[in-house]
Amino acid sequence: MTLVQLSRLDRPASTKFAAECKVRPILDKMLVTSLDGAFVLLTQDEFRAFKSGEVPAESELYQRLCAANLVRAAFDVKRAARLTSERKGFLRAGPNLHVFVVTLRCNETCVYCHASRANMDAVHTDMKKDIAEKTVDLALASTSPFITIEFQGGEPLANFSIVQHIIDYAKRQNAALGKTLEFTLVSNLGLMTEEKMAYLLDQRVQICTSIDGPQVLHDKQRKLAGGSAHETAARWIKRINEAYIERGLDPTLYHIEALLTTTRDTLKLPREVVDSYRSLGCRALFLRPVDPFGFASRAESHLEYPREEYLKFYRSAVDYMLELNRNGTEILERFAAIFLTKILTGTDPNYLDIRSPCGAGIGQVAYNYDGKIFTCDEGRMLHEMGDDTFLIGDVETSKYRELMAHPTVRALAVASNLDGQPDCVNCTYQTYCGVCPVHSHRTQGSVFGRIRDSALCAVHKGIQDYLFEKIAENDPDTMRTFGKWTTIRERSHYLQNC
Ligand code: SF4
Ligand code: SF4
Repeated sequence: MTLVQLSRLDRPASTKFAAECKVRPILDKMLVTSLDGAFVLLTQDEFRAFKSGEVPAESELYQRLCAANLVRAAFDVKRAARLTSERKGFLRAGPNLHVFVVTLRCNETCVYCHASRANMDAVHTDMKKDIAEKTVDLALASTSPFITIEFQGGEPLANFSIVQHIIDYAKRQNAALGKTLEFTLVSNLGLMTEEKMAYLLDQRVQICTSIDGPQVLHDKQRKLAGGSAHETAARWIKRINEAYIERGLDPTLYHIEALLTTTRDTLKLPREVVDSYRSLGCRALFLRPVDPFGFASRAESHLEYPREEYLKFYRSAVDYMLELNRNGTEILERFAAIFLTKILTGTDPNYLDIRSPCGAGIGQVAYNYDGKIFTCDEGRMLHEMGDDTFLIGDVETSKYRELMAHPTVRALAVASNLDGQPDCVNCTYQTYCGVCPVHSHRTQGSVFGRIRDSALCAVHKGIQDYLFEKIAENDPDTMRTFGKWTTIRERSHYLQNC
């Protein structure tokens, strides 16, 4: 079936020429995206000809439109089916990300803590050995041939013996299954020691930390009793990166990753934030807005901001990163890399929060320290706030098939399927985008939400507008950098086939 989905203003005079497409003005051009995610940027004259169906078949424009599968008479159904199937390849796998919350205890106190941390003496929030083993058994029951076990908290280093046990047990259990295993650990590094670091690197665990920007900002937002959280993290980032080199690994490929949480104070410091990452030797930033979960919801009045202000910050920071790349410093922004991979390469990097349907249950599962199972870590965060909407089972009793067929998992797959979201289905960015039912539930009271009013939609739309503006400008340096940002980094060292 071909049908034209142009915005009210841009409805074509002739619906006979154009295949299904969506349109959005970008600078002085018109962006037209096709059903299978290809796009063209047309001048106003070209767009008028496209709308009215007056494009001569021998013209260069006609060839360009056909190449993007935008001409109804030449519409290639097989191509559309193949490309859509390739983009949705993640649906054939099953959950690959398994988040293990090994404790709620944490040595730091962050103003926005999404995990609702517990004090260091709350040892009852440590995952026990029997729960850990049952959790590994469930994770390995996934139909996915790739399993990432991500250690989260609280601070996972506070329950390090269980981290070690999980790695050891998972490897032993996987010997008979032959899946590809990967371990990641998200840590503030405050409890790191040389011994723990050596163990983690020997076991090829990918380490990720949090850096909120310059030291003053970081230490204001992340309190470490008796010291500077920033100094501690910076010291260990340097040490861990040195240790990768000592092990003969290429530092451009293997280095510690850091994540940022953008608060109101961050918005004033786009360049300073980027420079603080550079000075630590980090090659990537993820400019994530603050989420409405955990302590962040309590501190909303001094952390939150209108999303237009965030987008101004985002544009300044990424403009600066593009300038740095132009001058030979390689540094990338992760939102941009995720969207650009979809826009420019036609593949989907399977980032679970920006895909359709999203990863809740069918791409990731989160396991709390006490064995309770959630559709994703964000669903678990709401549980800590007293909302069990996203609780789907318990490792003591639940079977893998029951979890996958759980009514909540089904509801979230339907709610995050952009083909069924009234605003997204007509949006130019539908093929590249994703919505978050947990966010919609929390901020709008329903997993379906009202996407046009969603702060997350504002962020996704604003970032894609920015990226398409840059693509429309077609500056060779920017396009070269964008090409690099879509390159999948070699990371075979972390993948373990046992
Ligand atoms: S519900 Fe939200 S947080 Fe959970 S997997 Fe989906 S997009 Fe991600
Ligand atoms: S979330 Fe917003 S930007 Fe993304 S497809 Fe839906 S309407 Fe478009």
